Amino acid sequence: NAPARKGSSRWRLGVMGGTFDPIHHGHLVAASEVAAAFNLDEVVFVPTGQPWQKNAKEVSPAEHRYLMTVVATASNPSFTVSRVDIDRPGPTYTIDTLRDLRATRPDAELFFITGADAMAQILSWKNVDELWSLAHFVGVTRPGHELTSRGKDVSLMEVPAMAISSTDCRRRVSAGEPVWYLVPDGVVQYIAKHGLYRKEGSISEDSF
Ligand code: ATP
Ligand code: MG
Repeated sequence: NAPARKGSSRWRLGVMGGTFDPIHHGHLVAASEVAAAFNLDEVVFVPTGQPWQKNAKEVSPAEHRYLMTVVATASNPSFTVSRVDIDRPGPTYTIDTLRDLRATRPDAELFFITGADAMAQILSWKNVDELWSLAHFVGVTRPGHELTSRGKDVSLMEVPAMAISSTDCRRRVSAGEPVWYLVPDGVVQYIAKHGLYRKEGSISEDSF
């Protein structure tokens, strides 16, 4: 139900998948930079369900990750959030994400946005040909990760160095260190309100 794109070309839809535990400004800058460079009409953020590469116990409940993503993207008219992955039972595979989005947004041309670290995993998958038939792949740089292209259907782009990771944000919260300006203000407040990432038994009420 997105508005029609001006002119005859197809709606250009970026797809930003991630655990978003929590979403941070690295994710938002990457989406914004790719949207500008590839003339995207919209970027849909897709929080993962049960991440196949991460231990279930280490990942916050999907509803928290979804709501933080909504809070973080609410002010940008070009950013939306999809529940396709969190509403699908079982582990999340990018192939399912793209199939579902293709089904719900049949008129859109898909651009899957991923960091260099995740791109390396994608390129090692068996069904990579089907992935590339569903979407263009855009790999973005990330400090500490080599950016290499091994397929002609993968575009690579440099985004401003954002030495922010969800892992570091979680560590900071559990240690009572600030995450202000690493994540959007509303996400700082959401984390505090729900007591996310605190070590069990720790008293860190004043860490925000
Ligand atoms: P974690 O530390 O828990 O792995 P993360 O910071 O890597 O979290 P994810 O949700 O795993 O965040 O990442 C979602 C996508 O965003 C991935 O494609 C990842 O490569 C990319 N990404 C994450 N952080 C950055 C960043 N600072 N700059 C650019 N891309 C990023
Ligand atoms: Mg990661």
